[in-house]
Amino acid sequence: MLNRMKSNLIMVVSLWFSAGLAAQQSPLTDPESHFGFKPGSDRNLFTYEELINYLQELDEGSPRISMQEIGHSPMGKPIYIAFISDEENIRNLEDLKEINRSLALDPGLGEEEIESMVHRGKVFLLATLSMHSSEVGPSQSAPLIAYDLVTTSDQKELEWLNNVVYMMVPCHNPDGMDMIVDYYKKTSGTRYEGASLPRVYHKYVGHDNNRDFVILTQEDNRAISRIYSQDWYPQVMVEKHQMGSTGTRYFVPPNHDPIAENVPAGIFHWSGVFGQQMATDMTAEGLAGVSQHYLFDDYWPGSTETCIWKNVIGFLTEAASAGIATPLYIEPTELTVSGKGLSEYKKSINMLEPWEGGWWRLVDIVEYEVVSTMSILKTASLHREDILRFRNRMCREQVELGSTEAPFYYILPTDQHDPGELVNLVNLMKEHGIDVYELNGDVELEGMVYRTGDVVIPLAQPFRAFIKEVMEKQEYPERHYTPGGELIKPYDITSWSLPLHRNVKAGEIGNRCDEVKGRLQKIEGEYSLFEPFEREVYAIVLPVTSNESFRTAFLALEEGLQVERLDVEMKYQDRHYGKGSFIIYNDPGKKEAWEKVTGQLRFRPGVISDKRALIAHPLVIPRIALVETYFHDMDAGWTRYLFDTYHIPFTVIYPHQFRETDLTGKFDVIIFPDNDKSILMTGKRKSDDEYYLGSYHPDYVKGMEKEGFGKLMEFSDKGGIILAWGGSAGLFEGILKIRRKDGEEEFQLPFRDISSELTKEGLYVAGSLLKLDVTPDHPLTLGMPERIGVFSRGRPVFRTSLPVFDTDRRVIGTYPEKEVLMSGYIAGEKKIGNKAAMIWMRRGRGQFVLYGFNPQFRASTQASYKLLFNALLLDDPE
Ligand SMILES: [Zn+2]
Repeated sequence: MLNRMKSNLIMVVSLWFSAGLAAQQSPLTDPESHFGFKPGSDRNLFTYEELINYLQELDEGSPRISMQEIGHSPMGKPIYIAFISDEENIRNLEDLKEINRSLALDPGLGEEEIESMVHRGKVFLLATLSMHSSEVGPSQSAPLIAYDLVTTSDQKELEWLNNVVYMMVPCHNPDGMDMIVDYYKKTSGTRYEGASLPRVYHKYVGHDNNRDFVILTQEDNRAISRIYSQDWYPQVMVEKHQMGSTGTRYFVPPNHDPIAENVPAGIFHWSGVFGQQMATDMTAEGLAGVSQHYLFDDYWPGSTETCIWKNVIGFLTEAASAGIATPLYIEPTELTVSGKGLSEYKKSINMLEPWEGGWWRLVDIVEYEVVSTMSILKTASLHREDILRFRNRMCREQVELGSTEAPFYYILPTDQHDPGELVNLVNLMKEHGIDVYELNGDVELEGMVYRTGDVVIPLAQPFRAFIKEVMEKQEYPERHYTPGGELIKPYDITSWSLPLHRNVKAGEIGNRCDEVKGRLQKIEGEYSLFEPFEREVYAIVLPVTSNESFRTAFLALEEGLQVERLDVEMKYQDRHYGKGSFIIYNDPGKKEAWEKVTGQLRFRPGVISDKRALIAHPLVIPRIALVETYFHDMDAGWTRYLFDTYHIPFTVIYPHQFRETDLTGKFDVIIFPDNDKSILMTGKRKSDDEYYLGSYHPDYVKGMEKEGFGKLMEFSDKGGIILAWGGSAGLFEGILKIRRKDGEEEFQLPFRDISSELTKEGLYVAGSLLKLDVTPDHPLTLGMPERIGVFSRGRPVFRTSLPVFDTDRRVIGTYPEKEVLMSGYIAGEKKIGNKAAMIWMRRGRGQFVLYGFNPQFRASTQASYKLLFNALLLDDPE
């Protein structure tokens, strides 16, 4: 990080060495001279470190730019904002930040105070570049934009810099940028130039990094979210992306329906103003193919644009892609449209000047990026005063709405089935910049008694729209293209309710109930229900109902402590611990480990002070293989993330490695996250009975093939446990074979996936939370309540059948007969009612657990985690 003082110091030092020269800054090197190529030129890319070095050089040499480090990527690279504005604004950043904060958060400002701040304030425009690392254009254009702005003497641009502080995050995903650039350089000049990266471009989640902004699991995303949730409160935000190669050249707002009804109209109006100006300016500069009201909707809060629920005028732009840095020739006949808003690739109101086809290069993308960025700066500058007033008006209106319109409060009792998830939810809301409170006395409300300590989230806050969006049950806004016509479908999922996804009880209070107001005590710092131990500790007991108990138990094993699981339920000191609850023994010889393990507890465990015998067995972590493919395997990545954060050790195995791996000797459990059966078997995607190769280097286009699958069946035959969800469950349907010395044995597991039939009959689940009735008293459902919500896209759905010979099956979870939907959207609900959603099967000693939902979906379905954890700990049936 370079602050002003430090760069002034460098200035002084450099002046020392250049004695005799006039006291002026050293000339700045333009990007082409610095990098040795013009950014955007064919087949040329710089790395993240090279990009940052250049911007730091500008920082050292120019008073118009200041780099600030804001956090780290998951693989440890520093992330920066480059503040670019005129010299005076850069000098006054801290004062301007205070103005931003007051306008964003203070609903009580008087008219004069507001006008004074509007007079002094600047529009802060946050731009996050290339979070999706194969979308290289925005980050590659960053040096050109920065250099132009810090050296310009153009009167118009200087005026923009006087009115606007441009906050450029030159790269939102540093890890991915280097992976993509390094891999491109490796393939450059070979037959396979531009081949897709054979992994996710991120430590864990790849493209899903832009699905993480409600749950904020990834470190880079938390750093970005903090900019608008806690630190800088910019008024405008743009995330810079690229899309496919054969569609429109550029997308600017407004977005298409559906829109989030919680977001105030003004936000959409303003993003439309920016979009309209971009379309106008870009077209005037001769850049064809700009589209609006197309493909991308504004319904779901998982992207960086989550800031629109926090009163930021937020939007995205999308440029058409080249072959990374390799030019592409696009035949006019290949041009096409998809999604919503355009039905033909023709001049129409949503694409007024279609691009005609031909060569498309990185340099084109860079040009579109530069022109669109200048247009956004211009719009922000033109409307500086209105935008600043608008920000405080949003704050006042949201606080007013929260105190006049239901719901007024969410109250979350501390008495929860899984108290750890309550704690996590509270800390997440605080990370989002939400004020959270505790009751300092009992209150009776709407027939319920809430106790001292229960958690209260008042809606009368500037970020009310966000609170309501993530705390309520989602009801999909059904809109149609024509009256009575086709439903407008969502771009992504339709459920994200934090309490429902975590199975945390939350009362939605519809009365103003002023007595609550007088009982609120703000939660400062990290929230925790843990209380220090008062007595000697022989062991602690952690209830099986809590995900955090599993995390702590796995950590304790990792740290070498003795951990057991109860074989029977136990009542101890007025608390009930179900079968499967964990005992962690204090070991005076391992003080450090003990402190580490107990130090991360966020709720109070049972404390056993005296030595006693418990009916329990040792917890042993099995040897786990996690199947990941080379094809941007995000679901496997999320599973790795989950396991890493829960201290569950595992080995990644690729499908083609099955052939040469001693599966039985090395592993006890093999996990298949959601994937295509054809990709797992052959390395190729299959659609309508045809295989597709894609753009991967042939070294990576390989699957298990028959031989590898045979090894998997031998693993099962010898007592291995196989878990699979989503499309991967299809691997185990139909007639399977096990090789024996005396030939092959055929068998069939007693189930079928009936989701295709249900879909034909009208079932449509748009990525929703469905109710699951959990089968009690089964090792897979230890610690589970009777009913939870599970995340489903409507397939697979199972039908079991009578077992033959040495096979067996149990239905572990069933969709209820009626009212299956918990949150989101479903059509043909009746079709899925009373169907099996999770099954356990056995053949000989081999066990199979198949899920019709993703138990760890984007690390946002905490209610179903235990269905996965328990499966890892299944006993051998013999
Ligand atoms: Zn993208």
